[in-house]
Amino acid sequence: DSEDYDSEVASVCPFCGVGCQISLKVKDGRVKFVEGLDGPANEGRLCVKGRFGFDYIHHAHRVTKPLIRRDDAPEKGLNVDPANPLTHFREATWDEALDVAASGLAHLRDTHGGASVAGFGSAKCTNEEAYLFQKMIRQGFGHNNVDHCTRLCHASSVAALIENVGSGAVTATFNEIENADVAIVIGCNPAENHPVAATYFKQFTKRGGKLIVMDPRGQSLSRFATHMLQFRPGADVSLLNAIMHVIVEEGLYDAAYISSMTENWEAEKAHLADFSPEKMADICGIDAQTLRDVARTFAAGKAGMIFWGMGVSQHIHGTDNSRCLISLALMTGNVGKPGAGLHPLRGQNNVQGASDAGLVPMFLPDYQSVTDDGVRSAFTSVWQSGDFSAEKGLTVTEIINDIHAGNTRGMYILGENPAMSDPDVTHARDALAKLEHLVVQDIFVTETANYADVILPASAFAEKIGTVTNTNRQVQMGRPAVAPPGDAREDWWIEVELAKRLGLNWTYTHPSQVFAEMALNMKSLLNITWARLETQNAVTYPSLSPEDPGQAIVFGDGFPRDNNRAKFTPADVIAPDEAPDAEYPMILITGRQLEHWHTGSMTRRSKVLDAVEPEANCSLHPKTLRALGITAGDFIRLTTRRGTVALMARADRAVAEDMVFLPFAFVEAAANILTNSAIDPYGKIPEFKFSAVRAEKV
Ligand code: SF4
Repeated sequence: DSEDYDSEVASVCPFCGVGCQISLKVKDGRVKFVEGLDGPANEGRLCVKGRFGFDYIHHAHRVTKPLIRRDDAPEKGLNVDPANPLTHFREATWDEALDVAASGLAHLRDTHGGASVAGFGSAKCTNEEAYLFQKMIRQGFGHNNVDHCTRLCHASSVAALIENVGSGAVTATFNEIENADVAIVIGCNPAENHPVAATYFKQFTKRGGKLIVMDPRGQSLSRFATHMLQFRPGADVSLLNAIMHVIVEEGLYDAAYISSMTENWEAEKAHLADFSPEKMADICGIDAQTLRDVARTFAAGKAGMIFWGMGVSQHIHGTDNSRCLISLALMTGNVGKPGAGLHPLRGQNNVQGASDAGLVPMFLPDYQSVTDDGVRSAFTSVWQSGDFSAEKGLTVTEIINDIHAGNTRGMYILGENPAMSDPDVTHARDALAKLEHLVVQDIFVTETANYADVILPASAFAEKIGTVTNTNRQVQMGRPAVAPPGDAREDWWIEVELAKRLGLNWTYTHPSQVFAEMALNMKSLLNITWARLETQNAVTYPSLSPEDPGQAIVFGDGFPRDNNRAKFTPADVIAPDEAPDAEYPMILITGRQLEHWHTGSMTRRSKVLDAVEPEANCSLHPKTLRALGITAGDFIRLTTRRGTVALMARADRAVAEDMVFLPFAFVEAAANILTNSAIDPYGKIPEFKFSAVRAEKV
């Protein structure tokens, strides 16, 4: 009812990569409720997080003043009450806090060299804020040790996509499924993690589309599927190679497409000869006939899409998993036409945009290599500054190890929570405690902020203007509906003030100026201007003219590689880093659940979401619980080689009998105390999706 609010503001949901457009309804300076808008990705739809998960922005735990660690504070550790941080910190003015933050980082730079300071930026901030963050580390400290949560998310998918199709973004929007007649959803649970995208997948099946779901864990989307393949955890390559083997053996591939659009087919074909379904059936836990059926079903489609998530990417062979999916799409001619494409479903609302903006250690904006002298010089000429390192920087987990090695001594962390999100998080927390100077910019005293020397109070999405880019390559305008609480400020403003104190020549007074600078060296933003986004709200890149709403499908006439062809890269079966044994006989898989978002800092402070899922929980098969003498609802202890957590056990037939599923949003039973930090050699992504674990009655 329009009488229930004073004003309404169009913005973008802050949670998943679907990027639903929302209308924030405001009364008396507070967001009262949210409605879905007719955005290109959601057409009015919202999930429970988008509709009810906004009230964290008004939570009493918001940091409203700059905070500086007290001289007499206890030793750094996970020991700050977020409701009462003044036991460890004292309030300060912005000038004092910024001076202390900048001088601490500058002192390390000037004493130990620029590489003694590293940065984690945020996929929850805007494109402009991500761009400024990477620029500050490169320009201010002279190196590329800057990263963000893509390293824990789709870095391996991006590595495989850049290698084989020449671009790290999706080749088709997920809405293109309306033109498909077959689709694979593998290693993701869209009904929980990308719920609005899942509604399009369900609609597709209603009009006869064939949906093939593949995942070690069962899921509700399988009710709509023609095939549900609950394969062995970690067996992705054997499963996908077996499917491709059948396509080759039975001549079901698209020879014309392969010959005109791809390279290295003969090598791929020869490689697949070793992966018959009969040989792979035991390894992947799916019978040979089903593998053959799935291969025939996908290859018979006139247009097919492939969607994947963290179940594919978070393995030490994550890049190989994506290589297989790319090969499957290429051999069936399923890239570059309506209803066809490769689509890694991006996790956070701006992980696509933050990566595009160069918030990664190997690429400047638009995935231009830091090792290329011409590329660096194009940026330093715009930045009017000297050159910076031509070496690829360290990634998230490498920076943590570098702290332990004594090289990285200071960090600037904006909106990331490595004290919860990193694998083997005890190791990560110990590293944060070792830092000589840690500046954390966030809206709450997160677990990471517990280790800070200075906490800079930041803004939530509904308190600032800026662009974000969703999983569909849609650049969208987020707008402020309410003022930040207390002295909290927009993140871009804090970055600018910090940069000035680090001696940088930054004069920005509005994010639109940052966007204009980004466009100078980012071809992806061609024809996309701030003014256009202000009036149109969303433009998909690439946009071919100022009138073009953007291309939903790309690469129909060639790939952005040297010879315009996509490449087949064969993949071998690699065992997970640690195998279950007598001591740790089960397999631990971590992930998200519908109501909670990543490390829980926002959704656990949202009344509705926290009321639905208030307690740390894990899921095991009912037979496994019985064998362990545990009743659903009882406490269970989970132990890996890294540590132990105790939490409530649930019975779930979707989980295999030798598996445990554990959401990672709960600090009281932090899943990443258990996970393995072994990484994929290409994407450098940790193996969150496979740890050997022991489950016991408490
Ligand atoms: Fe927000 Fe994602 Fe839900 Fe849309 S699907 S409302 S973007 S969490």
